[in-house]
Amino acid sequence: MTEKDPETLNDDRNPEHENCGVINELEESSPRGSFGGSIKDAPGCGTMVANALSQQSIHEVNVLPGEATGSKSDLLVSFDTLNVSLGSAAYPYLQSPALEALQKAINDRGTRMVVNSAYRALAQQFLLYNWWTNGVCDFQAVARPGASYHQAGLAIDIENTDGWRPYLERYGWQWFGSGDYPHFTYVGGGQVESVKIKGRSIDIRNTATLAFQRLWNRNNSGAQIAEDGDYSPTTESKLRVSPANGFKIAPWEKKPRLLRLSQPRMEGSDVERLQTALKKAGINVAVDGEFGPRTDRAVKDFQAKKTLTADGIVSPKTLAAMA
Ligand SMILES: [Zn+2]
Repeated sequence: MTEKDPETLNDDRNPEHENCGVINELEESSPRGSFGGSIKDAPGCGTMVANALSQQSIHEVNVLPGEATGSKSDLLVSFDTLNVSLGSAAYPYLQSPALEALQKAINDRGTRMVVNSAYRALAQQFLLYNWWTNGVCDFQAVARPGASYHQAGLAIDIENTDGWRPYLERYGWQWFGSGDYPHFTYVGGGQVESVKIKGRSIDIRNTATLAFQRLWNRNNSGAQIAEDGDYSPTTESKLRVSPANGFKIAPWEKKPRLLRLSQPRMEGSDVERLQTALKKAGINVAVDGEFGPRTDRAVKDFQAKKTLTADGIVSPKTLAAMA
């Protein structure tokens, strides 16, 4: 995998790369919580306005069939259990080999790493690109959706680049260079570079688009689009009218996700169902579909009541006790 020369960063409106440092700064100062309208109307400049839809898209990558990814396990794995401090808009997902390499680097140095960005869902990349091209937010440069390793589970943006660089490079993480100072891409081997859908090979950077297309199709039986991972005008037109707070049929109906307090906070119908069940069990909690500290407290209270380990993690055992 080679990255484009950083010299060409600001040459046009369709770059292969972007200025991650500036993006991350603007993200930090932006409000949380999903916006109630369509993606195209989402106000700038922080991508958490599409948190719910982004979470659905991320989970959709993990419901891609095993024959597509060549693996039985999830393609994207959360690294929030490592010794890291996460920026407020960082989805902490990497492919397993990249995660293992990151863990080794962090263990070697023995300090906490600040990660400001890792995985980016298609809606996020669209919003950043759209705000940038419309001059709404001063991002300097944003990659076109589908062109970034942030959409492959193979990139991170961190703080203290100089301090981390030797450790990361030792384990297959390549520094982008001064044109995008905080950015590292994993090139160390073992990573999935493409997926196969219906005999067609799709570049790993396009799986964020592919995931969105599959999510769209599941929710719009009368307006099907090609599932080819190609960020076409048709796909973009559907993304624009998609609900920022998520589709009705979420991928966790197909494969449940492990609910727990995390950053960004989990949002969705599964969280809502959990809160309803807690309430039924006599635990005081608001049913708002967002897994925040109060829901965490409620889960722990429920677990304690049932003499389960009160860790706030909604394991199958915890779920069974609710049924
Ligand atoms: Zn980056």
